[in-house]
Amino acid sequence: MAGGTTKLGHLVAVLATALVLSVSPVAACSPVDFTSMAIVERTRAPVLDALLMAYRDIEISADGTKLSLDGRHWIDVGEIRSVTPNEVLRSATVSEQFLYHYPLNFDLSRRKEPFFDPGRPRNDAFFKALYFDSEDRTRETLVKVPAPGLSEATFWVTRKWGVDCQLRMALQVLAESDEDFSRFFKSPGGAFNWRRISGTSRLSPHSFGIAVDINAELGQYWKWTGANEGDVGAYDNKVPEALVSTMERFGFIWGGKWHHFDGMHFEYRPELILYSRMVLQ
Ligand SMILES: [Zn+2]
Repeated sequence: MAGGTTKLGHLVAVLATALVLSVSPVAACSPVDFTSMAIVERTRAPVLDALLMAYRDIEISADGTKLSLDGRHWIDVGEIRSVTPNEVLRSATVSEQFLYHYPLNFDLSRRKEPFFDPGRPRNDAFFKALYFDSEDRTRETLVKVPAPGLSEATFWVTRKWGVDCQLRMALQVLAESDEDFSRFFKSPGGAFNWRRISGTSRLSPHSFGIAVDINAELGQYWKWTGANEGDVGAYDNKVPEALVSTMERFGFIWGGKWHHFDGMHFEYRPELILYSRMVLQ
């Protein structure tokens, strides 16, 4: 009997450990609300302050012209150049990532301005340093985030910078809302996908596991309208403000605010939300 009790005790201990291990990633998740977090007293250019607030491990050179994620490789912060919007899109400097101010409200009229695409200019070297430079390295960090109450589908995103935690909390808030958002998560477009942006040589943010596509039918995408780049017409938005603002709260910008609209697309870019709070308020 004594041996049986010990075995049972051991089994209980093993089960308890397994339970703790299985829930620990959730327990360790302490999400940040980027729309209400205190803005630090500014000591540098807003671009640098926003980056530092969003990603605490970034190092900035003493003269503020370079940044590094590992203390060995340094990336130019660069300037806003006198170049065409296409050039900005093709090879943005880190500063140019902030060229178009991401609107914090739900005024979609800004997107009528050709190339008003806050978030679309991305510096390749910066993203590879901030996240990963290969598919294998990204895959090592992927976490499956479920959407209970919204969808049977799950989203594979990175755990780097707590992206999985931020998404988990955004989905939980949406699921617990009085409004039913489930139709927007029906057959969602997905999340991680190591690929180039269609028609370009640039990596999509889906490559790093930081972007989520909801239901494409309700989201819509500018290329499907047959429009020409820089001359995209009206966007018949179907995504409600409450969904967008909840995602923004946890650091995800929405492609529905872009001239080149991508209404199904959300992307973890808390630095853009923080930057808008610094310069627009
Ligand atoms: Zn997308």
